[in-house]
Amino acid sequence: MDRCIIGNVTVTRIPEREPQREPMFKFFPDLPEELVKANEHWLAPDHYHPPSRSMLLHFHSWLLQTPHHNILVDTCNGNHKPRPGLEMSDNLNTPFMERLMDAGVAPEDVDFVMCTHLHPDHVGWNTRLENGRWVPTFPNAKYLMSRIEHDIWAARSKDASRPQWSRNVYLDSVLPVVDNGMAVMVQGIHAVDDCFTIKPAPGHTAGTCRADLQSGGSGAVFCGDMLHTPLQVPYWQQTSRTCEDKPQAVKSRRELLEDCAGSRAILMPMHFGPPYVARINSSTAGFSLDFTGL
Ligand SMILES: [Zn+2]
Repeated sequence: MDRCIIGNVTVTRIPEREPQREPMFKFFPDLPEELVKANEHWLAPDHYHPPSRSMLLHFHSWLLQTPHHNILVDTCNGNHKPRPGLEMSDNLNTPFMERLMDAGVAPEDVDFVMCTHLHPDHVGWNTRLENGRWVPTFPNAKYLMSRIEHDIWAARSKDASRPQWSRNVYLDSVLPVVDNGMAVMVQGIHAVDDCFTIKPAPGHTAGTCRADLQSGGSGAVFCGDMLHTPLQVPYWQQTSRTCEDKPQAVKSRRELLEDCAGSRAILMPMHFGPPYVARINSSTAGFSLDFTGL
């Protein structure tokens, strides 16, 4: 179990599935090969696999135990979710819940689930299968999600021209939460408690949000898929093919890195390999990484 203390808050990484290889130059269509070559010495082996020219995508949730609440940021892929056409998320069976309980938190102990966005690898454990029905996994939680993001995926779920996985993700992982009155639709800046604030950070998707933790003079920013690889710190202009609005994604990423560099908050993305998090330095040469182990 990987854990760190930020002020009065304990942050624990809850891993889900094993890391996946994604062809680097398909994922980043505009990425020059020589740029990766020049950075291979620090990208490999944790973030890049040179023989297959693939990046390594890790999958984990962040559990925050504040003095008042247990908060789970992003819920990975989930078990048994039908995702035809999206092999990475399709019909998984992982011991994610056992790992959460190993961290000392039972499903009923979770007060808030925060979804940075509604891609299938970020909302899967919102629900679980019970007697053939999808039910909220965390019975006492409020599920925080962007109103903009919710409405887009709700519309997509009704659009027969969309791939089946992108219709399923709303129907099996978001709608049951909404139907049970457990969703909180967030618009603009939203303070969850005295140390955890949700902020719009669009680009990867239209409703992508980040969550800023501030406690005891220390900070962290949970940024979901605003970056997929640490290479996007020095090369923050590089945007993946999964980002919907590329110029906006670049703008939000730059603001995120400036904020982390200015405040010394730890960057906590969803998909980085070990050590999973980093501090950000800023100089006239640009942004650089200072890997901070948990
Ligand atoms: Zn993701």
